[in-house]
This record gives sequence, C-alpha cells and structure tokens, in this order.
Amino acid sequence: MIVAAVLFVYAVLLCTLAPRLLRGARWAERAPRLGIAVWQALGASALTAAVLTGLALTVPTVRVSADLAQLLEACVMALTAQYASAGGAAAGAAGAVLALAVLGRTAWCAGTTLLRIRRQRSEHREVLALVGRPDATRGVVVLDHEEPVAYCLPGRHRRTVITTGALDTLDDDQLEAVLAHEHAHQAERHDAVLTWARTLARAFPRVPLFRTAEAEIARLVEMRADDVAAARSGRLTTAAALLAVAGGRTPAAALAAGGSTAAQRVRRLIEPHRPLGSLRIAAGSLTAAAVLALPLLVVGGPAAAATQLNYCPDGTPAAQVTTMR
Ligand SMILES: [Zn+2]
Repeated sequence: MIVAAVLFVYAVLLCTLAPRLLRGARWAERAPRLGIAVWQALGASALTAAVLTGLALTVPTVRVSADLAQLLEACVMALTAQYASAGGAAAGAAGAVLALAVLGRTAWCAGTTLLRIRRQRSEHREVLALVGRPDATRGVVVLDHEEPVAYCLPGRHRRTVITTGALDTLDDDQLEAVLAHEHAHQAERHDAVLTWARTLARAFPRVPLFRTAEAEIARLVEMRADDVAAARSGRLTTAAALLAVAGGRTPAAALAAGGSTAAQRVRRLIEPHRPLGSLRIAAGSLTAAAVLALPLLVVGGPAAAATQLNYCPDGTPAAQVTTMR
C-alpha cells in the first residue's frame, strides 16, 4: 500500500505543481529542445505513475525465481493472501480499474488523434495536388494566394507549402529562413512530439500538467525551429521573415512559420541571444531522465527487496507475502 500511496502522491504533485512552477520558464526558451524533453518526461512520468499506482494496488510483489513452478506458486500465494480479505480485494479491483482506465483512455485518444490527423493531411495533400504548383528548385509547393503563408504538412508524404503572397513579401534570405524553419519541423519530427502532447491533453483535459505541456511544447517547437533558421540566416533576418508571415492562417494538421506565438518569438529573436550553457543543459537532461525513471524506481525498490525474502520457510505462506501496495 505504501508504494501505491507514494506513486499516487507523486502523480498528483507532478500534475498540479509542475505546470505552476515551469509554465513560461525562461530557461526553456534559452534551450527549447531541453524544454520539450522536460515537458515530455513530466507527462510520461505522471502517466507511468498513475498506471503503476493501479498495478501496485492490484498485483502483490512476489519473489523472483528462475524456477517457474516456484515463481507461480509464490504468485498464487501472494494473490490468495491479498484477495482473502474484502479490503484487499476492493483495493485490487480499484487498482485494476485505474490502470486499465488510464491505459485504455490514452490508447483510445492516441488512435483517434492519429486517425484524424492522417485524414486531414491526406485531404490537404489532395487539395494541394489540384491547386498547388510544385517548385522543384526550392522543394516546395506554391499556392496562388495573396496572403503570406508558409507551412509544412509533416509525415511520410511531407510537403512544404508557400503562397505567392509570401514569395512576393520575403527577400531571398528571409525565404531561406522560413524554409529552414519548416525543414527543422520535419527533420526533428515536431509533428510526432505535438501529437503525443495533444493526445494526453485530450485524454485527460482536466489535468493541468497535460494542458500546460501541450501549450508549452507547441510554443517550444516553434522556438526550436526559429533557432535552426536563425543559425542559417541570422536572428534578425529570421525575425523579419517571421513578422512577414505572422498573420497567415495555419491549416489543420500543419506546422506553420507564423502562428499565435509569433510576437513572443520575434521579441526573443531580437533580444540578445543567451543560449543555456552545456553544464546546465546536462543537469536539465539528467533531471528529466530522473523524473522519467522515478516511478519505476519506486516500484523496483520493493520488488528488488522482495527477491531477498525467503518465502514459506516455515510452511506459513500467507505470513510471508509482501505486496507492492
Ligand atoms: Zn513553425
């Protein structure tokens, strides 16, 4: 029961406190990739802790043994001991419901989100095939429209799309910056990162962590793509290019160069660039890894300890059973 309680409290603290402490953090803007990794680690850790809370309530810890018969016997004894009492059976049932509900809800939302995005991109590609003009030199599809817009449709049949309005507005350096921004989205699979964040936010809309993580990750992938573009074309050129396409609309399931965070990103590009030092990035990466591993360590500790126990030494199996709870 202690393990389940620790995991539950950990998940609740992570889901409520982490978004308050980390929302809009300046260090993440100085190292967007690290920021994305930290938000992903927080989400995955909370999800793992919730599932393991359920499992810890449901399945007692048994001594690991190379002898399959001995292991099965220990399992049966542990389960019998737990489910012999009404309280143990109720806790086990509640744990199973919790674990299955979290896993089932996540899988359902992941499936529906992926199918919806796939359908939207497929429909959009069909429209592009009808009205777009391939520009082999630039590797883009050009749309005849006066609104300056640039975006990419990620995935297996990826497309980078730019309107004639954007081509008329941007000079060569700015166009290079916009294309570098879109290529960064595709090369670093920002679509997959965003899809996972959206899945969790849709699956558990009342959980502050997942809502905040979705918004923060959406903001940080744009900053990361800006940094790639700025490394190629310069920060001021990228900022000017961003301003030129900032007002453009973003089609569903696409990643644009503009968007709702454009003003904040332009300000960031204009301000003096102060990337996070390698030591602080290493420390942040280690922290993210620790957050990710913590739920497994909480469960793994008692399970490892249980392997040291000698089951049934005096023929009283129920007395020797320990549980993960
Ligand atoms: Zn973008």
